[in-house]
Amino acid sequence: MKKIILLVLVQFSFNMFFAQKPTKPKLVVGIVVDQMRYDYLYRFYEKYGDKGFKRLLKEGYNLENTHYNYIPTYTAVGHSSIYTGTTPQNHGIIGNNWYDKFLKKSIYCVEDTNYESVGTKSGSGKRSPQRLHTTTITDQLRLAQNLKGKTISIAIKDRSAILPGGHTANAAYWFQGGNEGNWITSSFYMETLPAWVASFNDNGKVDSYLNQPWDTYYPINTYTESISDDNPYEGTFKGEEKPVFPHDIPGIKAKNGNSSIIKSTPAGNSITTDFAMAAIEGEQLGQSNGQIDFLAVSYSSTDYVGHKYGVDSKEIEDTYIRMDFEIERLLDYLDKSIGKNNYTLFLTADHAVAQTPNYLNSLKIPGGYFEKAKFNEFIKALSLEQYGSDKIIENISSYQLFFNKAELKRLKLSSIDVENFFAEELLSFDKVYKTITAHTLQTTEFTQGTYSLVQQGYNQKLSGNVVIIPDPSVIGGGNKKTGTTHGSGYSYDTHVPLIFFGNGIEHGSSSRYYPIIDIAPTLANLLQIEFPNGVTGKVIGEVLSNY
Ligand code: ZN
Ligand code: ZN
Repeated sequence: MKKIILLVLVQFSFNMFFAQKPTKPKLVVGIVVDQMRYDYLYRFYEKYGDKGFKRLLKEGYNLENTHYNYIPTYTAVGHSSIYTGTTPQNHGIIGNNWYDKFLKKSIYCVEDTNYESVGTKSGSGKRSPQRLHTTTITDQLRLAQNLKGKTISIAIKDRSAILPGGHTANAAYWFQGGNEGNWITSSFYMETLPAWVASFNDNGKVDSYLNQPWDTYYPINTYTESISDDNPYEGTFKGEEKPVFPHDIPGIKAKNGNSSIIKSTPAGNSITTDFAMAAIEGEQLGQSNGQIDFLAVSYSSTDYVGHKYGVDSKEIEDTYIRMDFEIERLLDYLDKSIGKNNYTLFLTADHAVAQTPNYLNSLKIPGGYFEKAKFNEFIKALSLEQYGSDKIIENISSYQLFFNKAELKRLKLSSIDVENFFAEELLSFDKVYKTITAHTLQTTEFTQGTYSLVQQGYNQKLSGNVVIIPDPSVIGGGNKKTGTTHGSGYSYDTHVPLIFFGNGIEHGSSSRYYPIIDIAPTLANLLQIEFPNGVTGKVIGEVLSNY
């Protein structure tokens, strides 16, 4: 009899214990390091401390083979895809800027004149996420908790703050440079800045960062992971003769937009961490019982530095050595304020980046610059010769041709025929590698390879009629042959770090391929909430403890 009671008791407590919902995090932290390549984790590994990137690698779950699965790999598109769990085909953010077929003008992804600036005299606050067609993981977390949890999203770049916050963020803040040097927002979120933001803006930190020159953190002769400091592949600040350390920030800031110069130095990342910590404190994130808050932080300065100096520069090496300290500082602060294992964090990038084509050429590796002006002339001539009209192509942008529907109608031309004509003829232009028509993208389903990447980035409502894919290591350049950029579907642009860390996360690593759109559904599974409404990614089971 006693035995039976005991057995029942054991069974009962067993059920109580295991049927319980797992402990959820109090805060989710999303970190995006703008333009961070996967290989930066290892190229500068010896230079990193134990408490930044290395701590994430050691204590978290490292997905070593995570890629963007669409073209184009730009900032707004990347942030949208991370947070919506789908590609531009569905979320509708097809670039940073694109040609709007209906408005017949180029638009900026988060521009919205229906709203007013908050915290700045400029128009830089007239922004909203209205062009994002689907919900984000941050929206779903707000919806699942009847709007009780908070979402705060911050970045130097407006698009990198606004898009991760989704449609229901309590606030998104971004940095207004020039003579202001303040964190600002839009009336989409609020009418006036909260007291903690106003007081942060008055704390004089931006000025104190800008009063110091940018020199290397460690002696420059120890920077053996990068090429010589003075080389012909790097851009310069205005007022500088050579792209070399130390960069005299106090002396050149007036020529470089005053406080705007902070964006192109590691101090831009430091002020972002400062502001993120102020947000945790000011909004009491992760402090209320039973509700889950979300902090989205995007570090933009890595991208500005990367564009100017390129992958192989001393400046990039120094920027990542310092970025490592920003991660350490943020983790330490989260441990202290939220508590170890009370938060779940992921770190990734919005795209990676190409090595500077001129540098690759110096090593006999093919690559180069796409001559946009010549390309436009080429198209015009083709169009005149074939159709007797130079009005057939209404716009050429983001490697896409947009047709003028009225002109096609007037000339009684079928858009399919005209698409096919250009797709064929463009192949003879220098550095065009492949082309594909809208008609093919709408009638064929690609499951792998370059055309699949194009298809995932192609939005039937918004995109153009013919898509052009340049050769590997070719970037749009014009006259400027220094620095580099991103945007392609080649691995150097698509391969990014992805590390999950903290509450609910396994320890380990995996070399299995995952697309970037798997982040949002994985978080949704961890949080036991519904997926974003356009989701096409899948749950990455191996990173989750309770999966
Ligand atoms: Zn970016
Ligand atoms: Zn960029």
